[in-house]
Amino acid sequence: MRNHIATKLIFELSRSGRKGVALPQSDVPEQPVIDPQFLATEALALPELAEPDVIRHFTNLSTLNMSVDTHFYPLGSCTMKYNPKRNERVAAMPGFAEIHPLQPDDTVQGMLRLLYELQSMLAEISGLPCVSLQPAAGAHGELAALMVAAKHFRKQGANRTKVLAPDSAHGTNPASARMAGFSFVTVKSNEDGMVDLADLQSKLDDEIAVFMITNPNTLGLFDAQVRQIAESVHAKGGLIYLDGANMNAILGVTRPGDFGADMMHFNPHKTFSGPHGGGGPGAGPICVTEELGPYLPIPRVTESDGVYVLDVAQPDTIGKVRSFFGNVGVLVRAYCYILSHGPEGLKRVAENAVLNANYLLSKVKHILDVPHGDRCMHEFVASAEKLKQKKDMKQPAMDIAKRLLDFGFHPPTVYFPLTVHEGMMMEPTETESKETLDAFAERLFHITEESAELLSEAPHSTIISRPNEVAAARQPVMKWSEE
Ligand SMILES: *Cc1c(COP(=O)(O)O)cnc(C)c1O
Repeated sequence: MRNHIATKLIFELSRSGRKGVALPQSDVPEQPVIDPQFLATEALALPELAEPDVIRHFTNLSTLNMSVDTHFYPLGSCTMKYNPKRNERVAAMPGFAEIHPLQPDDTVQGMLRLLYELQSMLAEISGLPCVSLQPAAGAHGELAALMVAAKHFRKQGANRTKVLAPDSAHGTNPASARMAGFSFVTVKSNEDGMVDLADLQSKLDDEIAVFMITNPNTLGLFDAQVRQIAESVHAKGGLIYLDGANMNAILGVTRPGDFGADMMHFNPHKTFSGPHGGGGPGAGPICVTEELGPYLPIPRVTESDGVYVLDVAQPDTIGKVRSFFGNVGVLVRAYCYILSHGPEGLKRVAENAVLNANYLLSKVKHILDVPHGDRCMHEFVASAEKLKQKKDMKQPAMDIAKRLLDFGFHPPTVYFPLTVHEGMMMEPTETESKETLDAFAERLFHITEESAELLSEAPHSTIISRPNEVAAARQPVMKWSEE
């Protein structure tokens, strides 16, 4: 049933003179506090409502969205795991939430110690010793690390202009390469979904700066050639960047620094359970080799004799990439998550994420094709391509995704990576039960049996069914109307 309260704008609910607070009459003469020339001359056009109206409006709005707290959310590549509430309580502690970024270091020793220890933990997990917590998202980490690489080559006096990545890479890889001033070259994947070594070899020359690899890759496959790839790239004087978005599959099992990476980012909002979706805030800490450490963004947290400082005395740094110290709220949650699991626990996270994905894969492969699907890491990519013919559907992956919404399942990632036609990328994560995975697979099966016509008009139960997604992102219409 459509919820009219939640679909009106708060401006439409406004009634002139209605207030959320009732202050007593002042019993002292009014004194101007602000010079009148700085005061607005007209009242602002703000909505006027009583407190319960405001609370109902926003509470109802909040129920229209899907979240990890309300629904299964197998959005591949995004690691939508449950966010433990313990992390929220810790991040909200006044000593973390209410400190000011300009406070002197000696008044924020607790926060600095936490960040220092988080740097050490990420160094340990990645196998790369030098860490910057500054970047504000994975994509921002990619950019910062590529700037580090650019500076490293400039220092060497080397003219290296190219960044390479496979065709299965996330769109942020080429975007970061271009923003950091490199040209971008795509390397083909082979039939098995791995890097095509012959194609890579043919594109390696003295101009290569960085090869970016996501491992396990976006098909959910671990590319066991990675060490060989690293040797080839290093032999040409290039660096290996590991896109760490899929670290949930290999935490505590293997380390990028051990399989040849020189630089990487973490996505704490994915791997370490920070809440995400809806635009942030996230974080994108980067870890690099000893050799690249001097170029990292400032400030970094250093320690001597038990005193922690925000160190800006790094002459070769690329400078600041984020105001103050990055999105520390997400970093506090990551610290709490890592500490509460411990080394053995993190390894179990990865093992269970892989186990859950393989369980779901074993069910889904009887419903849809799964092109590289004997086994997977933490996610896999099914293809709805066959339904195009079988049911005369134009965009079966999109239609199935939309129909899932009617049954309380957030859809998988669709049409990514670009190498799989009608791709549906499923990542259940380790925090889901067998019952949830069974229910999802069963629903998916029933949906593929439904008529093409019904599917093409799904979802049928949501307030808005099929917005023009490009227009909705670029020119959002924030007003709802009956028509
Ligand atoms: C999520 C993701 C990114 C980008 O990370 P953000 O934190 O969203 O900026 C990069 N690569 C892959 C493979 C991803 O899944």
